[in-house]
Amino acid sequence: MKQAQRLKAVRYDIRGPVLRRAQALEDAGHKIIKLNIGNPAPWGLATPEPIIADVVHNLGNAQGYSDARGIYSARVAVAQKYQIQGATDVQPEDVMLGNGVSELIVMCLQALLDTGDEVLVPSPDYPLWTGAVSLCGGRAVHYRCDESNGWQPDLEHLAASIGPNTRAMVIINPNNPTGAVYSREILEGMLDLARRHGLLVFTDEIYDQIVFDGAVHHTAAALAPDVPMISMGGLSKTHRAAGFRSGWLAITGFSGRDTDYLEGLQLLANMRLCPNVPAQHAIQTALGGYQSINALIVPGGRLYEQREHAWRALTTIPGVDCVKPEGALYLFARLDPAVHKIRDDERLIIDLLEQKHLLLSHGTGFNIDTPDHVRVVYLAPVDVLNDAIGRLRSFLANYRQ
Ligand code: PLP
Repeated sequence: MKQAQRLKAVRYDIRGPVLRRAQALEDAGHKIIKLNIGNPAPWGLATPEPIIADVVHNLGNAQGYSDARGIYSARVAVAQKYQIQGATDVQPEDVMLGNGVSELIVMCLQALLDTGDEVLVPSPDYPLWTGAVSLCGGRAVHYRCDESNGWQPDLEHLAASIGPNTRAMVIINPNNPTGAVYSREILEGMLDLARRHGLLVFTDEIYDQIVFDGAVHHTAAALAPDVPMISMGGLSKTHRAAGFRSGWLAITGFSGRDTDYLEGLQLLANMRLCPNVPAQHAIQTALGGYQSINALIVPGGRLYEQREHAWRALTTIPGVDCVKPEGALYLFARLDPAVHKIRDDERLIIDLLEQKHLLLSHGTGFNIDTPDHVRVVYLAPVDVLNDAIGRLRSFLANYRQ
């Protein structure tokens, strides 16, 4: 049986052949250090107890389908979150819940794109965005993020990437894989381009609470309430509940008459009946009250110290440098081409896996052009990170392609 022709254009390399090889090694009894996926709970960064208690408490009430948009109490909590962040117009009717941001990304693009439509996507990107654009028959046009400027988007390149078929702009802030937190000026520049060219903005802010060193995350919907925008977030990272599959979107900037796209989105929400109901019950508790992520991102907190440690260790490897991430959960390290001369970075990751039993992700899997980056997830405790980066150091010392 053949797969759909349309899938031939879809790439999602970070869970591709490399992961299958890791699985085969594990099946053969090898222990692999996996620093390839931003999944906090397996590293002991547990979902806060009150969230679990709320889900358990509500299990009995979660047996039937909910409203296709999600339960009301959770949508109120999401609306209030955006109001507090400065997007004061967001109401529960503007919120839709999903089985993680992943499902909402696909739904939002399915509702928008016809064959040949273009979407501006950052390079590097979280590759589901590019993959989902392709799945929907569209074309991802990658705008450059500038490594020499802390991976901030290059506004000139972004502007030059807009053409007659451009429908939307994707913003990932804080960014996966680079960890960049966009400055207010850059973000306003991006939103102004969207405004002037009539583009729909998708802003993926799933890491909005994971920022370090006093960096400020600016909520795009608060900066441009007049620009049609879908803001997305969820519990996977900030609340360490990736397995719950609990995410949301908030709709802003659409005028009362501009309902066609939103009707399409509602149709798709209806067709999948509703998101997983027990996980919806986690949202109100998660978003209210004390935010335990705050204790993890300050000096002495686990995420802060792990980032600090991993970044320092990584950047002492000869021929490796890395912009220090100000947000999210990743280090996107550069292997200096003058030193390492990598032609195929996926091959490098497989060789590293086979020789050192360490699993990282290759940069081209995040839609950059050159095979000279690797992504390291720094969720593991410091002793594991030490071990892993030591393995990378000794691997690179002898590696030739
Ligand atoms: N968006 C970004 C930028 C991500 O990094 C991820 C997961 O790594 C997702 C979305 C998917 O999140 P979810 O677990 O809510 O589907």
